[in-house]
Amino acid sequence: MDDSIGDFQCADLLIKNSKIESIGKSIQIDNAQVINAKEFVIIPGFVDTHRHTWQTQLHGIRTDWNHLDYMTYIRSMYCVCYEPEDAGLGNYVGAIEALNSGITTLADHSHLQITEEHSDALASGIIKSGIRGIFLYGTYRNPSYKPGEKILSFKNLINEVTGPLNQWHRQNAFRIKEKYFSSTDSLIEFGIACSELSRGKSIELAIEEIEWARSLNPKRMSLHVATNRNEPINIVKELSIRNLIKDDILFVHGNHLSNSELESIVNSGSTISSNIEPEMSYGAFPVVNRLSQMGGCPCLGIDVLIDFSSDMFGQMRALLNVWRLEIALSNFDKMVRKIHQKKVLEIATINGAKALGLDHKIGSLTPGKEADLVLIKTEGLGLTPMNNPYNAVVTYGHPSNVDSVMVAGKFAKRNGNLLNVHWPSIKNQLNLSRDNIIKKYHLIPETSIRKLWKDSFNVKIVDLNL
Ligand SMILES: [Zn+2]
Repeated sequence: MDDSIGDFQCADLLIKNSKIESIGKSIQIDNAQVINAKEFVIIPGFVDTHRHTWQTQLHGIRTDWNHLDYMTYIRSMYCVCYEPEDAGLGNYVGAIEALNSGITTLADHSHLQITEEHSDALASGIIKSGIRGIFLYGTYRNPSYKPGEKILSFKNLINEVTGPLNQWHRQNAFRIKEKYFSSTDSLIEFGIACSELSRGKSIELAIEEIEWARSLNPKRMSLHVATNRNEPINIVKELSIRNLIKDDILFVHGNHLSNSELESIVNSGSTISSNIEPEMSYGAFPVVNRLSQMGGCPCLGIDVLIDFSSDMFGQMRALLNVWRLEIALSNFDKMVRKIHQKKVLEIATINGAKALGLDHKIGSLTPGKEADLVLIKTEGLGLTPMNNPYNAVVTYGHPSNVDSVMVAGKFAKRNGNLLNVHWPSIKNQLNLSRDNIIKKYHLIPETSIRKLWKDSFNVKIVDLNL
């Protein structure tokens, strides 16, 4: 997984403190603890570049949603049902769930910043997990009503959700950065998840938010863009005209961007996080193929947790297949060589590290880098006989094959079990939290809120009886 070193059928990997010291055949050293990795594949930890981690309690809550449903149920209803302790638990469990499946770095697009207590809980939850990553403080506005309260003005609800950056978020984001992320050598760094700028009121407000975010010196700004056609503001084009795209912006989705817009992103050193399963289910090809052909650096994210698996194996397999399909369809009169699994594994590891500005530390098995790595067990049914390690991981791999996970030289998972996690008690807390959220959800007038969003979407909505 580092072409300058090459791959090994059998080799030693020496870890000293938090870093990879050396890789090679038969490293001789005294007093080292030896871990026998025979019948394992060792890979760098996966890098998830986009996840709404707080949604962990909502796994599979509804499974046939369109964008209207998402705005109605998640952005206007479930979010206000979270108390601070639910927010903290969701972030903590979402992060250990990621670790359990071999994701060692996570970009948490965190838009449940409702009160200061919620923000404290969200930041503390991800820090407590021991994962590496970026806590992207979300400047999205959440509705101000509480479940069970009378909603005085439904019209204001949409304005609340789509409104411009307000003073409270500016102060609270700064407070959170100072309180939790002032050290540059901690595992989690600070970033900003911008509001939906392409659906905002004006380009001037969007630029103002980006300039404000830059003033906080975030590791990255994460920005949803062009998931749907005809968004009110063509944010990539507008930022590009003003030379405001830099490598500190990580765009997310970008399915409906033109080639010239993609080129402006590639030329600026920025890139796009593709979230294959959600994007395909909303009806758009991921930009991975187009970005790759332009020399860009596509990467992968998990995104929302309500309808999709939360591990990288599902995303990699979905990418492999949709990428192969896209190439086959665009070369229907030729016979082309298929995309190799190695390419997909690089996108899920080193490309993600580059996208987050962390490739000097992680993303490959390279001496001098942090020891973030995963042992995939290949001895069992489904992976034996193992003829090709890339194929074993990408095509046949599953979280249950993840035997051990290490972050910065420390095991987070060993012999199939997460360390320092008492799952029976966490499970009980999680179920209780889910029950409380759902109880509150039923106090909210769904029909009125759905109609409000339906009227605001400038598109025909149909329900197919398939
Ligand atoms: Zn997202």
